[in-house]
Amino acid sequence: MRRTRRTQSWVDIERVMVIRRRGTSVTAWCRYCARAVPMSTDDEAAAAAGVTRSAMCSLAYTQALHSAEAPGGVLIICLESLQKYLLGERS
Ligand SMILES: [Zn+2]
Repeated sequence: MRRTRRTQSWVDIERVMVIRRRGTSVTAWCRYCARAVPMSTDDEAAAAAGVTRSAMCSLAYTQALHSAEAPGGVLIICLESLQKYLLGERS
């Protein structure tokens, strides 16, 4: 009788992503995270993610990213939701 031996191996791959802040970010309340988180303007978030400002605004308006309107009508993006989005996680 022939016996087969099965060996299983696991490799853990950890991906680390660093979002560099070129400008300034603020700590603001994100109603989706329900806590204060770092947030940046749409321009700065787009630069950090390597996408156009237009693409960043589209992601915010479709609620793929958490966003809020700062005083003066400036769109600010929740950097935690951006990081999750870039890592393929959805919140
Ligand atoms: Zn958030």
